[in-house]
Amino acid sequence: MSNERIRLADPALGDAELAAIDGVLRSGYLTQGPVVAAFERRVADEVGADFAVATSSCTTALHLALHALGVGPGDDVVVPAFTFPATANAVRQAGAEPRFADVDPATFASGADHLKAAVTVNTRAIMPVDPFGYPAPMSDIVALADEMGLFVIEDAACALGARRDGKACGSYRDVGCFSFHPRKVITTGEGGMVTTNDEALAHRLRQLSRHGAEVADRWPTFTAAGFNYRLSDIHGAVGLAQMDKLDQMLASRRRLAGQLSAMVQRIDGVRTPVTEPGVEETFQSYVVFLDDSLDRDRVVDELRAAGVEATLGTYGVHLEPFYARPELADALPGATAAARQTLTLPMHTRLRSTDLERIAATLEQAVKEQS
Ligand SMILES: *Cc1c(COP(=O)(O)O)cnc(C)c1O
Repeated sequence: MSNERIRLADPALGDAELAAIDGVLRSGYLTQGPVVAAFERRVADEVGADFAVATSSCTTALHLALHALGVGPGDDVVVPAFTFPATANAVRQAGAEPRFADVDPATFASGADHLKAAVTVNTRAIMPVDPFGYPAPMSDIVALADEMGLFVIEDAACALGARRDGKACGSYRDVGCFSFHPRKVITTGEGGMVTTNDEALAHRLRQLSRHGAEVADRWPTFTAAGFNYRLSDIHGAVGLAQMDKLDQMLASRRRLAGQLSAMVQRIDGVRTPVTEPGVEETFQSYVVFLDDSLDRDRVVDELRAAGVEATLGTYGVHLEPFYARPELADALPGATAAARQTLTLPMHTRLRSTDLERIAATLEQAVKEQS
């Protein structure tokens, strides 16, 4: 077996992205301009949303959305407990308080019932996550939000191009937020986007992302203490080139994930990702669940020692030192188990069949050593 490292992620960047950057640099117009506007249009069309506002990351997209919706001090926002901590951090940055919801250990998503259980009298918004690009059951979640009068900020960081029953992640209710970090479906290096169908909200998001500047006759007027969350045209050019490859990259991820699952599901004690009917996920990460009898950290160590870049699934935010709510460990069993027993295997468009075989064989060996 080769000992060449198998990388966790490997963004598909090449001549098209280089040429796009070259064009922007030669134009001399570097900050947010026509190229970002074209990128926003492409993402809005993909998502089926009327508007898209580019940001410097998904974290700033989430913060901007909360701020634009007027969520702030004294308000609670429900977030899944098993997610990248940025979901909860954005709530704190807005001055509000995250309330943690459990997740379904099969799909890693919080459903309407999980979210509802975490709602308090102060809750203004819910922030469902499409974990690893697996679409959350958004129709049920929107029904809950309608019933309780809550905003919905969909953290679709990993879910560009994901759909449930044909409807795209990020297109459901108030806003969807996307990430273009190199470990996501497409990348701009760093970058993000908010999608919405609400024209007034789109205007406010745009204005707040640009210092609170309002376009007026002669020069801008400033009507809010806005942020500088703009994306540059250099990043936008990379994003546009990446959008050309989105369908092909998603098809390749789905095909590779299917092949890997066929190999990994034969291993005792390892559960492969599930796909419910009607779901088209992105496999931003390929995450498996290990039986309780297995020491996840040791399995990850063994994989790494053999040159397979594995890592943990994602974080139990309720257990991280900053939020430290150990009393929630038992109350949120799905999220707690997922934080302890999941791991991410390499998944990217450049994996070869021999890589998949080596990933599965190494995982099998690491698991066998513990049984
Ligand atoms: C990656 C990620 C983020 C943060 O995205 P950035 O663009 O790096 O700020 C937020 N939420 C989830 C669920 C993520 O996976």
